[in-house]
Amino acid sequence: MAEYKGVMIYGEVAEGKLAAITIELLGCGRKLADDLGQELCAVLVGSNISSLAQEAIAFGADKVYVVDAPLLKDYQTDSYMLAMEKVVRQAMPQILILGQTSMGRDLAPRLAFRLETAASMDCIELAIDPGSKLMLQTRPVYGGNAQATFTCGTYPQIATVRAKSMSSLERDASRQGKVITIEADLNLSAIKAKVLEKVTEKVEGVKLEDAAVVVSGGRGIGNAEGFKQLEELAKILKGAVGATRPPCDNDWVPDGWQVGLTGKIVTPDLYIAVALSGSSQHMSGCSGSKNIVAINKDPEANIFKQAHFGIVGDWKKIIPAFTAKVKELRAG
Ligand SMILES: Cc1cc2nc3c(=O)[nH]c(=O)nc-3n(C[C@H](O)[C@H](O)[C@H](O)COP(=O)(O)OP(=O)(O)OC[C@H]3O[C@@H](n4cnc5c(N)ncnc54)[C@H](O)[C@@H]3O)c2cc1C
Repeated sequence: MAEYKGVMIYGEVAEGKLAAITIELLGCGRKLADDLGQELCAVLVGSNISSLAQEAIAFGADKVYVVDAPLLKDYQTDSYMLAMEKVVRQAMPQILILGQTSMGRDLAPRLAFRLETAASMDCIELAIDPGSKLMLQTRPVYGGNAQATFTCGTYPQIATVRAKSMSSLERDASRQGKVITIEADLNLSAIKAKVLEKVTEKVEGVKLEDAAVVVSGGRGIGNAEGFKQLEELAKILKGAVGATRPPCDNDWVPDGWQVGLTGKIVTPDLYIAVALSGSSQHMSGCSGSKNIVAINKDPEANIFKQAHFGIVGDWKKIIPAFTAKVKELRAG
C-alpha cells in the first residue's frame, strides 16, 4: 500500500460556487493531511468549474484536480463515477472524503466497490490514529443511539461526512497550490442514465439543513393546520420546520420536511421537538443538534431521554404561549 499517498476530498459545486460541504471537507481534510504530513487535494467535477480551483486552494487544498466537460454539466451517477474513478486511480490517495449528501451517498459505495476497498458512511468525526496512521472513522450506529469508530485496512480509505460536523478554515486568498486538469474521456456507452429534467425544490426562508433553529412536529400535532403554528414560531426564530414521518405520510407537510433515517439530517443549534415520541429513526436525523428541547404530554416519552430540556404538557397550550413570549421579547 506504500504507493498510496495524501488525502483527497470530493468537492461539490452548487450554483456556480463551492458548496458549503466542500469547504467543510477542505477544513477536515487539511487537518488529516497535516497529521499525516502529506498533501491535501480536491477534485472538482462538472462543466465550467475550472475557475473554482483557486477557491478550493484558498480554503486549504494543496492541489486541485479539475475534470471540466460539457457532458458533466448535471450530476449523473455513471459519468461522475467514471470521472472520479479516473482521478482516484491516477492520484492514489490514502484517504478519500466525500459529503454525506445525495451525491456522496451515491458515489462513495460505488467507488469503494470499483476500487476494491470500503466506505464508512455518515461519519461525524475523522482523525488519524497516531500508531497505525489509519483514519479513525466515527459514525452513529443503532439508529443514532451509539457511536462506533472504524478503521479500514484497504486503500483508499473512503468516508462520507455529515454536514456541519467538521470545521472549515478561514479563506486565505494568498494560499498557493497546483491545478491539474484531467480529461474526462467519457465513454458514452458506459453512461446508462440520462437526466431528462431537473426540478429544484422551492424553499421559502431558511433551508431545513442550513437552519440554526428547527421546530419539528410529530404525529401529535394532528393535522396540517397545527403545523401552521409551528411555521409561525419557526419564522420568528428565523428557523425552519421539520417533521417526523407520519405528518409527511399523511400529507400534512411536504415530504422534504422529514427528518431522520430516511429523511434529512440536521444539526441546528436548537431543535424544538414538538409532539413527537423520539423514535430511533427520527433521532438519527437530529441527534447531532446542539440543544434539543422536547414538548410532549407523555412524561415517559423517549424524547425526554434524548432532550437537553423538556416540557411535559399539551403543545396546543405551550406553543402559542411560547410564540407570544418570543414575539414580545423580539419586539422589546
Ligand atoms: C425503515 C424505517 C425508516 C423510518 N424513517 C423515519 C424517519 O426518517 N423519520 C421519522 O421521523 N420516522 C421514521 N420512521 C418512523 C418511526 O419508526 C416512527 O414511527 C416515527 O418517527 C414516529 O413519529 P412520531 O414521533 O411523530 O409519532 P408517535 O410515535 O406516534 O408519537 C407521537 C407523540 O406525540 C405526543 N403527543 C400527542 N398529542 C400531543 C399533544 N397534544 N401535546 C404534546 N404531545 C403530544 C405523544 O405523547 C407521542 O409521544 C421510520 C420507520 C421505519 C420502519
